[in-house]
Amino acid sequence: MQEVFYFGAGPAALPRPVLEKIRHELLDYRDTGLSILELPHRSDAFFEIRDQATQLLRELLQIPEEFAVLFMHGGATSQFSALPLNFLGPGRSADYLCTGFWSSRACAEAARLAEVRKIQALCEGESLSIAPAQEWDLDPQATYLHCCDNETIQGIAFPGVPEDLKSALVCDMTSSLLMHPVEVDKYALIYASTQKNLGIAGLCVVILRKDLLERVNEPVPRLYDYRRYVRQDSVVNTPPVFAIYVLREVLDWVRKEGGLPVLHQRSLTRSAQLYRVLDESALYENRVAPEFRSSINIPFAIRDTGALEDFLEQAGQHQLRGLRGHRSAGGVRVSLYNAMPDAGIARLLEFLSDFEARQRRT
Ligand code: PMP
Repeated sequence: MQEVFYFGAGPAALPRPVLEKIRHELLDYRDTGLSILELPHRSDAFFEIRDQATQLLRELLQIPEEFAVLFMHGGATSQFSALPLNFLGPGRSADYLCTGFWSSRACAEAARLAEVRKIQALCEGESLSIAPAQEWDLDPQATYLHCCDNETIQGIAFPGVPEDLKSALVCDMTSSLLMHPVEVDKYALIYASTQKNLGIAGLCVVILRKDLLERVNEPVPRLYDYRRYVRQDSVVNTPPVFAIYVLREVLDWVRKEGGLPVLHQRSLTRSAQLYRVLDESALYENRVAPEFRSSINIPFAIRDTGALEDFLEQAGQHQLRGLRGHRSAGGVRVSLYNAMPDAGIARLLEFLSDFEARQRRT
């Protein structure tokens, strides 16, 4: 069978060498006689996995000493609740910059639990864009400002951190962490669930400046309390051992690939190739203004009404899978995470041109 290339937004494709290593270690983890799925969470073997994953993240992202790296349960959605539960409360409020689906979701959840100000920064005109920073109505007293680095559904990239920000910046990097270098010290807290570029579902990586812990409000539910995760090295209850193990393997693969500058360059080259095909096409249409285009998740519509199902079916016949757009957006979405091999993007580009040529003939 032809190799399958999976473009799903998450859970996403894992690097082939990582899958092979997992298969190898599944039955007997490094001569412990136990499967990695059985490994106790208070064993030296697990502590080593956790510490190596932390160390690799620190190296790859050049995380400064004053930041802690935490492994928390429940994906990014649990952080939507953890943030207000830890940092908001009487007399405190946060600003939420809404640039698409996920930042709006984070804002809505925080609004259920605390006082927040929603700053609508997504401009939906002819094309999709983000309002310039001078137009954001920020509260200089806000406990934090929340933003999303890459809107996975709309395919919108955050334009960069404004220089003169007064509040602590909190950023959802669920779909972009490990796709580009990050100036970690511009942020107070970064979080990302792991089922896109970092492994499998069930885990959220949190990178947090330790002085923020002084601002935590009592009481916080145990599994949401950042202070406990710091104090107990992320073993607050039984942690998702397997997800942390997969994370370590993915990070090791990223390091061997050459680290973030290499992967970033690769991502820019691939996405530019795809946007070129879309821009030259009369059939496909991406609606994001060029300066806000994501190089990671690239949604587009097919102008011929009725052609979407044919497109997806024929793509499937070429073993190009996971291309259906998010249910709220429709159309097609291509997710170009790090694990996508060159051959995958090459086959996709060829298919896009061939499909358009066939449509023109019919
Ligand atoms: N934020 C972003 C940017 C996402 O893409 C997603 C998931 N697609 C989430 C948050 C929610 O993540 P989870 O399902 O892990 O809670």
